[in-house]
Amino acid sequence: MNEKANEETLAEQLEASPEKNAASEKTLAEQAPSSFECRSCGYVYEPAKGDNQNKISPGTLFEDLPETWRCPVCSVPRSQFIDIGAVGAPSGFAENLDYGLGVNRLTPNQKNLLIFGALGLGFLFFLSLYGLG
Ligand code: FE
Repeated sequence: MNEKANEETLAEQLEASPEKNAASEKTLAEQAPSSFECRSCGYVYEPAKGDNQNKISPGTLFEDLPETWRCPVCSVPRSQFIDIGAVGAPSGFAENLDYGLGVNRLTPNQKNLLIFGALGLGFLFFLSLYGLG
């Protein structure tokens, strides 16, 4: 019943703001600006971090980098970079973030850490059982 009420309010919200509706049909990772990887050396340009070495401030999109910008590691030109999509953004839809005990807010890296950290702890637990003998 609570769920149904939630659905109604969500539908109302979507009707109230059609332009917001279009945005919410994309996952967070799709909305986030793309990172670009250097095909030559594997360096990844992340818009959220910018590029300290070339005095590019955090938040600069790859598309907005100056034509003269080059890979800070191996100095190849911008044309050698490929779009690898958003890095470090949660992969789901914004309205689902509050479900799943907060796990839905984690980025893919954080999820890996959680999963393999838990596996590691479980393994250590089993090893500790040898101490009982
Ligand atoms: Fe490079």
